[in-house]
Amino acid sequence: MAREMICISCPIGCRLRVETDAQRNILVSGNGCARGVAYAEAEMRAPTRVVTLCVRAGADGSVMLPCKTKEAFPKELIPKLIAELKEKRAGLPIALGDVIMHDALGTGIDVVATRSMAEKAGGHGS
Ligand code: SF4
Repeated sequence: MAREMICISCPIGCRLRVETDAQRNILVSGNGCARGVAYAEAEMRAPTRVVTLCVRAGADGSVMLPCKTKEAFPKELIPKLIAELKEKRAGLPIALGDVIMHDALGTGIDVVATRSMAEKAGGHGS
């Protein structure tokens, strides 16, 4: 059975048609370059996404600190990751790239801050 997907590896967004043959080979068409094949294979075998979100920070948790996974994260684990990060409170001050959650859900992937914040940032970076 053929499946259609949009390649998100670059802004062109090629519409890919992906089929699996009897030998379980993945056949891709519609791709503008080889990255589309790699994207389709990863989507079929183990889809991942970079997760971006805000984590509560500061003593009272009133500051929202933008964060992201350092690498693409297994898609099936993203709801659990978001649930855990909702309960997280990051300390301040914090620097761009500081680890907010190490080895998230045992994947070996860290969640890091995407901006610096002073202790009394009030939502503004330093
Ligand atoms: S297949 Fe290549 S050209 Fe098309 S969206 Fe993916 S990366 Fe871009």
